[in-house]
Amino acid sequence: GIMAQSIHGDPLDGSPERTVMTKPIVALVGRPNVGKSTFFNRLIGERRAIVEDMPGTTRDRIYGDTFWNGRDFTVVDTAGLLFGGDDPNLPVAEMSRRTREQANLAIEEADAVIFMVDGREGMTAADNEVADVLRGTSKPVVLAVNKCDSVERNLDAVEFYALNLGEPIPMSAFHSLGTGDVLDRLVEAFPPYQAPDDTERHLHIAIVGRPNVGKSSLLNKLLGQERSVVSAIPGTTRDSIDTEITFHGERVTLIDTAGIRRSGRIEQGIEKYSVMRTLRAIERCDVALLLIDAEEGITAQDTHIAGMVLDAKKGIAILVNKWDVIEKDNETFQEYEDQVRQAFKFIDYAPVLFISALSGQRVSRVIQLAQEIYDQRQKRVPTGELNNFLRQAVLDQPPMAVRKGAHLRLYYAVQPQIEPPVFLFFANDGDLVHWSYGRYLENRLRDRYGFGGTPIVIVFRSRE
Ligand code: GDP
Ligand code: GDP
Repeated sequence: GIMAQSIHGDPLDGSPERTVMTKPIVALVGRPNVGKSTFFNRLIGERRAIVEDMPGTTRDRIYGDTFWNGRDFTVVDTAGLLFGGDDPNLPVAEMSRRTREQANLAIEEADAVIFMVDGREGMTAADNEVADVLRGTSKPVVLAVNKCDSVERNLDAVEFYALNLGEPIPMSAFHSLGTGDVLDRLVEAFPPYQAPDDTERHLHIAIVGRPNVGKSSLLNKLLGQERSVVSAIPGTTRDSIDTEITFHGERVTLIDTAGIRRSGRIEQGIEKYSVMRTLRAIERCDVALLLIDAEEGITAQDTHIAGMVLDAKKGIAILVNKWDVIEKDNETFQEYEDQVRQAFKFIDYAPVLFISALSGQRVSRVIQLAQEIYDQRQKRVPTGELNNFLRQAVLDQPPMAVRKGAHLRLYYAVQPQIEPPVFLFFANDGDLVHWSYGRYLENRLRDRYGFGGTPIVIVFRSRE
């Protein structure tokens, strides 16, 4: 369904009336080597997204979804986020600067923080640095003392009371000890969940992309062109503002992705791009518009962001911005589109639009494109029609089994869900179906019904 988020009151003051409608984001912070990635991997474990195995997306995961006690949340390993991995050989001053920066980012962008320290090594100066920063926030902080590998070692946690961040919880990521206690504390501290109001349902658009691709220019152009700006809605972080407009009579909310309108708040060069902010915007949107810079070309970060959108199963369009700077001949357009399609093969359903936020070229088509994708996400194929479709697809190409000679039959199909569209195919044995047959059915569904710009989900089930 459509995700919406509203936070009442100042999100930074931690007041009790604060509520969230989306998954909270939890930042995992701490100096290098305390066991953050070990814990992170345990947490997201098998729930790792499919994107990881797709060419062109990064294998280096720094965020993932998980749940505990009925609450879903997203964990971000802030070390990977900021440093591109920890380097223990850095000079102390540099290390300390980065450590503080990491903690600051966590406070600003996350809903809650897990601060991890190393019980075996005991308290260090770097721990104190992080604690200094974290003590200044009213966001929930859970102090996890890792490497307490046995009951006796739990005593190692006691000295961390001195950090003045509440009760230190002993745990061992390695041996999965005490991790439940850490998560209990964490989830208890989440703001209460409030279900989104269905009457509020309408298209939410997030403009995403790395810095300098033109996100704010596009947003401003869109708002400049659109004279019926309805209202400004307080967004998630302190000075972010969502904007609601009407477009051809339909309500559309533009999510303020990057704290777009506050430039210069974070020093140039430091604000690489905020994974947490991007995640949050994607989570809240129906359709993400991924901007890439025509002049600079496609980078790993661009495909990484596309992977985040795919993970969240949201709609997507690729907007190649700054098209005005490209010198063109007859072939330029096709060549460029081929390049884009090649790089974004894993979302081959995404429409590609060449725009200039500066000159306004094709900007008028942007909202319309998002609306089309929104419609595609809501399409429902009636069961009778879907089964006619299935019969024909099976006639044209019988189902392929994972084992040669295995008896495989597909009986019928239903579409139980929209946004994104989900299709269940019932077989005598769902596990027998070769993945490439799923791909075949997806292609056939798209040929027949479109679903442009949105992922669709195909599941094979055994008939009871
Ligand atoms: P990060 O730099 O904070 O992400 O730390 P890592 O997850 O890379 O872990 C650093 C080292 O500590 C690795 O050698 C891990 O195997 C080890 N480690 C992680 N968790 C535990 C634990 O619970 N107990 C012990 N004894 N070692 C651990
Ligand atoms: P953001 O960091 O993604 O929000 O990017 P900005 O909107 O701040 O744009 C970064 C720079 O690119 C600014 O100097 C813009 O003027 C410039 N820019 C944005 N869109 C275009 C475009 O379509 N064409 C050209 N030539 N420059 C653009």
